[in-house]
Amino acid sequence: MIERSYEKFFRQNRLPHLWCPGCGNGIVMKAIVQAVEKKGWTQDNTVIVSGIGCSSRASGYMDFDTLHTAHGRAIPFATGIKLANPDLNVVVITGDGDCTAIGGNHFIHGCRRNINLNVILFNNNIYGMTGGQASPTTPLGKKATTAPYGSIDPPFDACNLAIAAGATFVARSTAFHVQHLVNMISSSFDNEGFSFVEALVQCPTSYGRKNKFPTPASMLQWFKDNAAMKPTEGKFTIGVLHSSTAESYDHAYYRLIDEVVG
Ligand code: SF4
Ligand code: MG
Repeated sequence: MIERSYEKFFRQNRLPHLWCPGCGNGIVMKAIVQAVEKKGWTQDNTVIVSGIGCSSRASGYMDFDTLHTAHGRAIPFATGIKLANPDLNVVVITGDGDCTAIGGNHFIHGCRRNINLNVILFNNNIYGMTGGQASPTTPLGKKATTAPYGSIDPPFDACNLAIAAGATFVARSTAFHVQHLVNMISSSFDNEGFSFVEALVQCPTSYGRKNKFPTPASMLQWFKDNAAMKPTEGKFTIGVLHSSTAESYDHAYYRLIDEVVG
């Protein structure tokens, strides 16, 4: 059997994973470790921090120093790690409910402070693990257990939210565009500051079944048909949406300590 180079990044004794057949979470998890490998980061200098939800289970399968934290609280834990040891590369794995609802305040203030974290949002447009409730990214009119006739809540665009709040690198990709996704994540790793990558993922169980996607493949086909590399009427844009330069929070923190203490 051929051993793939990225397999060393997984805790083989924790597999198989608990995700449903056809779930997109594994695609994004693999893209993260491929980006880590591409960047030359190691298991000793990389920390994975996740919140709660289906996607946040990824940290348990990844053979790094990992923290599976409380719902919505991955960014505060990650901030502590980065400030205590700025040499570590800190990757946050989060879902749409975890990041934009329960952890919404932590998310916007992480962006505002430009903390040098790499936040990867697995956006399946639903609360998958807790039973298919509508999340802040559930599109208008789409069904959820809490919206059986279709959601009337205008959804967040998580990328626009991150840009408005001050993130210095923001990109979007999907579980269909795998190599593109790896490239977006590895580019986000190059940014010294708050980096945010939204990965659209299929959740056939809690979202697809209610919204006329008969198979996981039909959800991937939807990503293929509706994503565009540049702004296009009626489609969503994938790629780097924003990139800017600003002093990162950990840099400012240690600069201030140097100035005050000498
Ligand atoms: Fe994946 Fe959805 Fe199943 Fe959760 S409920 S494991 S997100 S398919
Ligand atoms: Mg979700």
